[in-house]
Amino acid sequence: MYPACQPRTRVAIIAAMSDSTGVVVEVHGMLATVLVDGARVRCRPPRDRTTPVIGDRVTVDHGEDPPRITSIGPRERTYQRLSVSGPTPVATHIERLVIVTSAFPGPRLGLIDRMWIALDDPAVQVVLVLNKCELPSAADSVKDLDDFVALGAEVIQTSTKAPLGLELLGERLSHGLSVLAGHSGVGKSSLLNALVPGARVKVGDVHDPTGKGRHTTTVATVHPYRDGLLVDTPGVRAFALDGLSLEGLAERFPGFREPSERCHFAGCLHDGEEGCAVVDEAPPERVQRWLALLASVREERVAARAPADKPARRPR
Ligand code: GDP
Ligand code: ZN
Repeated sequence: MYPACQPRTRVAIIAAMSDSTGVVVEVHGMLATVLVDGARVRCRPPRDRTTPVIGDRVTVDHGEDPPRITSIGPRERTYQRLSVSGPTPVATHIERLVIVTSAFPGPRLGLIDRMWIALDDPAVQVVLVLNKCELPSAADSVKDLDDFVALGAEVIQTSTKAPLGLELLGERLSHGLSVLAGHSGVGKSSLLNALVPGARVKVGDVHDPTGKGRHTTTVATVHPYRDGLLVDTPGVRAFALDGLSLEGLAERFPGFREPSERCHFAGCLHDGEEGCAVVDEAPPERVQRWLALLASVREERVAARAPADKPARRPR
């Protein structure tokens, strides 16, 4: 679907055509690389200044030099970041969201909940990679992911050290567009290096003496892989859910979509009202996790609204 080969001669043939359609496979600064009929064509963004996103289906006008994207098709199955500056799509028309977690110190379930919420389409397959599975904590950690399996996620146990599960993971990622996300330190870069020859993603150290974390960029890196594309997003320590109302969060919380249709209250936050179908029907651990997420999002929002530290009082 996204061949890595790039027969340059085709560019000339394409240039002779006026308009053609293609898929955005890379975005760098103001330019986007569009795969048109097997050739990689560097294009300018549309005149309306919409920023193209990886996976966008676009029309390209070859009459300009460099060619220009003239239209972007409707986005669906989009993975986005939800930051204070608004939702920022990372990739669209994605086949799967691959959330990498690790058997030690164990998967961060709250982070999985948040990344799941950031997906705007329940049709996207969620793959949970549990890395570092050569460690003895693997058995307990895999159980922690059971409720996501009940919601349709697939769990793949891997280890880059053993090695373990790499073939199966490679098979899953072999076609379509996969977005890789995860907490920093889980081994996402190591997995990419193991799968993609020449990826050379820098492997970090989990020990962080400064406590401030590595400096990360927000740019996604794309690796062609077999017939697919891997979109690697920077490892995170926290995942913001700004720009969504609390009701919106409740709607998207993993496992809540279906029971919330039977909840008697419009805009219910499923936080204990009698007659709330979510509280009655969803597994109690899920409800607990929802309440924890709700509390932390409320705290984050209060903190964000708080005025900057008052200037220290000075003696007259
Ligand atoms: P990233 O931040 O998610 O990209 O993680 P890295 O790939 O940079 O790896 C973080 C640390 O985990 C490094 O010290 C790796 O050597 C280590 N690591 C990666 N994969 C494994 C694994 O399968 N088992 C164990 N025990 N450690 C791993
Ligand atoms: Zn409710």
